[in-house]
Amino acid sequence: MTELSSLQVFKYLPAAKKLPEGNCKKCKFPTCMAFALKISKGMADVNLCPYIPEELKEKLSKSLKKPQEELLIGQEIKVPIGGETVLYRHDKTFVNKCAMGVVLDCSKKDFANKLKSILDFKINRINDIFKVDFVLLKGKFDNSVTEKLKKAEIAYIVEQDLNFLEEVKDEGIIKTVEILTKIRKKAILEKDENFSKPVFVYLKHTENLLELDAKASIYLCKYANALLFEDFNEALFSTLMTLRQNIYTDPQKPLQVESKIYEFNNPDENALIFMTTNFALTFFAVANELEAINRGSYLVVTPSEGMSVLTAWSAEKFTAQIAAKTVKSANLQEKVKNKKIIIPGLLSHMKNELQKELPEFEIKIGTIEAYKIGDYVKNLDY
Ligand code: SF4
Repeated sequence: MTELSSLQVFKYLPAAKKLPEGNCKKCKFPTCMAFALKISKGMADVNLCPYIPEELKEKLSKSLKKPQEELLIGQEIKVPIGGETVLYRHDKTFVNKCAMGVVLDCSKKDFANKLKSILDFKINRINDIFKVDFVLLKGKFDNSVTEKLKKAEIAYIVEQDLNFLEEVKDEGIIKTVEILTKIRKKAILEKDENFSKPVFVYLKHTENLLELDAKASIYLCKYANALLFEDFNEALFSTLMTLRQNIYTDPQKPLQVESKIYEFNNPDENALIFMTTNFALTFFAVANELEAINRGSYLVVTPSEGMSVLTAWSAEKFTAQIAAKTVKSANLQEKVKNKKIIIPGLLSHMKNELQKELPEFEIKIGTIEAYKIGDYVKNLDY
């Protein structure tokens, strides 16, 4: 794929210039326009047309160049970094997450503890596993270390591997961000090969974790491809990885959770049944409330392509039929005595239709806002 549209390519071709050779088919395409279309998609060789001007060849070769190199770092387990093509995620999407690694010096006496904390760190958040991406091994190490890292699917590198990256020294937020931004702009906007290497910043440990977090957050946003920490801190990594998850997702695809039945507080036959969509924000708002109520519950999460309740309903992704199918698949009528399903207050108009689809349940209208679920449950008479 080139950055030139088919029309931008076409205007250089003989047919656009109304020259006699226009649409001559020497390129084996029926028209100049058809050839331009293939060229713009990077699916035809520009030299097939004998009339291509040098100016277009130069533009095409520049636009085909990758703005930033994409590398796989790590031995055995590999982590992709770089390969970015835009400055802002909303222009398209960022390609590879900013990798987060830790220095592990095997000659230091705290080595075993540090390795254990790195290996133990694993958090599942919205279908994504947070774990340390890579470790920079220093000192003498043997297979037992690399095998443990491999088992935890953590890449390891040695100091020479850093030569494939560009280091930007941490000289305080303002100066460092200025340099990181300059490098990324040169790579993306000017495709300057001198700035095409992925970039990393090494962050020394400090007792002031807030300061470290602030710095790392900003470097993660603008524009480090990797952050290498002197020390490992679980709270710091969790925070940064949550931020990273928000930035490095495709802005055109809403965050969604798996559509299934979720359980809260060990539901038994007296459990309540709630329903919502698989839009991550909605799910977590409801899930937090259900965790907090002093009662077991099931949450039916419908497959709604990550749309919120009303959007999903208006796009016909949250219909009575879809909701009923999800409920039936879980056999909930066998598990709960009260046989009532609480639907989102925003979908009160769907009550009768859903009732017809699920005659074995009584459909109840719940709250519009998730934060009112606690009070709603307190007032239930079942
Ligand atoms: Fe057009 Fe193809 Fe002929 Fe070139 S070779 S002038 S692109 S038809």
